[in-house]
Amino acid sequence: MRDMQRTVYIPSLVVFAAVMAVVMISFFMSRNSNEREIVAEMQAYEQKSEDAVRDRLIVFEETLRAGIGVLEGDDDVTRGEWARFIETSAVIKRYPGAAAVGYAPIVKAADLNAFSDETSTRYQRKFVVYPEGARSEYVPIVFIAPQEEYEPILGFDISTDATRRKALETARDSGQAAVSSPVQSPVDQLGSDQYFVMYMPQYELGLPIDTAEQRKKAIKGYVYVGFGISSFMGSVSSDESDSGRAFGISIGDTQDSTYATGGYDSIIAGRHRTAESEVSIGGAAITFNYVYDTGSILPAYMNSRSVAVLVFGTITALLVAGSVWLTLLGKSNQLLLEKERSINEAKDSLLSIASHQLRTPATGVKQYLGLLLQGFSGELTNQQRMLLEKAYASNERQLKTINEILYLARLDAGRIVLSKTHFSIASVVRDTVTELSDQIKTKGHVVRLKIPRREKPFYGDEHMIRMAVENLLTNAVKYTHQKGVISVRVTFGKDLKIVVEDNGIGIPEDQQQEMFNQFVRLDNDLSVAVGGTGIGLYVVQHILELHDGNIAVDSHIGKGSKFTISLPFSSPDNSG
Ligand code: ADP
Repeated sequence: MRDMQRTVYIPSLVVFAAVMAVVMISFFMSRNSNEREIVAEMQAYEQKSEDAVRDRLIVFEETLRAGIGVLEGDDDVTRGEWARFIETSAVIKRYPGAAAVGYAPIVKAADLNAFSDETSTRYQRKFVVYPEGARSEYVPIVFIAPQEEYEPILGFDISTDATRRKALETARDSGQAAVSSPVQSPVDQLGSDQYFVMYMPQYELGLPIDTAEQRKKAIKGYVYVGFGISSFMGSVSSDESDSGRAFGISIGDTQDSTYATGGYDSIIAGRHRTAESEVSIGGAAITFNYVYDTGSILPAYMNSRSVAVLVFGTITALLVAGSVWLTLLGKSNQLLLEKERSINEAKDSLLSIASHQLRTPATGVKQYLGLLLQGFSGELTNQQRMLLEKAYASNERQLKTINEILYLARLDAGRIVLSKTHFSIASVVRDTVTELSDQIKTKGHVVRLKIPRREKPFYGDEHMIRMAVENLLTNAVKYTHQKGVISVRVTFGKDLKIVVEDNGIGIPEDQQQEMFNQFVRLDNDLSVAVGGTGIGLYVVQHILELHDGNIAVDSHIGKGSKFTISLPFSSPDNSG
């Protein structure tokens, strides 16, 4: 078992572990590469979204700069000219996010009435600055394009709204475009959509505007563009509502998303990743909150790639280790068989040599004893005869044992050749009982024979069958206490059955198989007294097997044992 572990299991386990190590490395590499691709995908999407917003705002920043140019080029620009300028630049038409582009000059409190009157007269429509209230200066919208739509906004003082004012001041102080946080239209009739506004400062020509202080002094007005947040974002974000990615934006100071692209809510409801980035435009920051549906950032096959590597890799590892295991098992079994065979061969030759060397001298002893007993060297006294008969009997037993061992060696070497004839089982049984009569008498046993009168001759090796019957009967005699009853029954049915039954010491059930093995002697009350080699039953079983027969045991401790031989009848034609 230990050798088996060393030669079969350990190498298979090592191979399995090695292949699994490669599989795990591939698995983690595949997962890492997926992660890298996920990050790359996310970055590409984020870049694309930010670029779209930034590019669009830059377009309008340029438009506003152009507006300043228009105003600076002519001190007396009219609403009509403003409308034409916007129409010519075509920004509103081309970029649907922008709602309107306008202009609001700074009017000192002292000039307000004159300015309002002049504007009213100029456009023949009453111009009122609102909301009402006394302020040191006003920033009323005077131009707006498209005007028909946004007419009610004309006159609105943009500096009155804190959010707008903050952006105005940023624009004024920086000299750059500034973007406001979300605001609503000052007039209810224009609805409650959210807007954000980009302002570009206009300074008095000729005044220095190098520092914030100077710019504060030189400020003259603001050109601006208002964006409806939804339509602006709608126009810059491609519709990817099914792609498992979306973003929300918050503009300026607002923390909450003021706009989110399609699918945002459903993505955050599931397993998702987030990312955040900020785009700074004209002093206002636009924060992007990206969300990605974890499962669909990469195509499905890429997600299952790592799992596939793991599953198929494990199967491969099992297959490889399994085939190594099978190969080594085959090899190790072969080695074991070879080892067993060579041990058996060595044992057989040893047994054979030993037995031959023993048999020749033992046979010699038999012959000389026979001569003495027959009176070749003169009359024997009764005592001499008794002693010699004992020596002769001992020598007989010795020869029997040697013959058994020899037979065993030939049997194991497969060198037994059956010499089959038709013979009488009844005679074999009767002869055996007669041969053992001395021992039977010594032990005071009664032997009952039951053999049908009409006998069916048996075709087989008579010598061997005799040996088998003799062994069983000898055992019955040996393993039964004095004055036992032994019965031998023969029946000629479909098979030939020979039953040898005794009322002896019996055999424990758990040893009834084991006793058929070579050299096995069971430990019992009589085993020491009666002697034996442990070969008998082994030989019996093999003799029966050679005749396609078998032997069954039924035995109970203290009650006795019953051995039943079954032999099929055969004839010279079918016995091979
Ligand atoms: P041996 O008799 O030389 O020991 P066997 O192979 O004939 O060897 O028998 C093996 C063992 O089986 C014996 O040692 C004995 O313990 C047991 N055995 C065989 N026949 C009987 C029997 N009739 N009753 C009790 N035990 C038996």
